[in-house]
Amino acid sequence: MLRVDRVSKSYPTPRGPLAILDAVSMSLDRGESAAIMGPSGSGKSTLLYVIGALEPPTSGTVTLDGDDPWTMSEQAQAAFRSRRVGFVFQDHLLLPQLTALENVVTPALVHPGGVTDAVRDRARELLAQVGLADRADHRPAELSGGERQRVAIARALIGSPGLLLCDEPTGNLDRTSAAAVAGLLMDLHAQLNTILVAVTHSPALAGRFGRRFELDARRLVS
Ligand code: ADP
Ligand code: MG
Repeated sequence: MLRVDRVSKSYPTPRGPLAILDAVSMSLDRGESAAIMGPSGSGKSTLLYVIGALEPPTSGTVTLDGDDPWTMSEQAQAAFRSRRVGFVFQDHLLLPQLTALENVVTPALVHPGGVTDAVRDRARELLAQVGLADRADHRPAELSGGERQRVAIARALIGSPGLLLCDEPTGNLDRTSAAAVAGLLMDLHAQLNTILVAVTHSPALAGRFGRRFELDARRLVS
């Protein structure tokens, strides 16, 4: 279970702390999905970064199945980020010089065993699941926008994370690819029984999530 408990976040600036989130709380059980909406600049990405342990909360706690990454050793925290959380960003952020398959296995570079044959097999399986079995050897420049985002989704899932975080995953795609990628995300979420949290501006996409939240004036409302 994901528990976000009275999380506040401010960024230090030359003119003093800039408050972004104020006592934000939410809880999601395994298998649940939540859409986060809200105007640009309202702190949606910041909230995802705090949930995914990329940024520490200024106060409050985030726990995944009872574990708080900010109480862990640096090594355990790195393992937490690479295995228990998957991130998909608006821009696919694939490495241009690597093939689709190589991109999918990159998070495993920091896994204890590294990129084993089992990891490569899992990556092929994931590429097949996102409909790209025959694109494994393509570089990002040889893929369409929707296909790149599918590779990014496969990469986010390589560590079999219990929590999948997506920051405007269809924001850069045309309508047809956006619908396909959104459908894929919902299917994968149902199959893998993860917790899915996605930031989106699309009411159609948000409508397919079990829970909907809106960030407004630094508070999260449902
Ligand atoms: P959203 O994703 O909803 O558009 P963000 O979470 O990206 O919003 O940003 C929320 C606010 O926090 C913005 O005003 C942004 O300028 C500010 N912000 C984001 N990151 C930083 C940072 N590292 N330092 C200072 N301010 C930041
Ligand atoms: Mg954002």
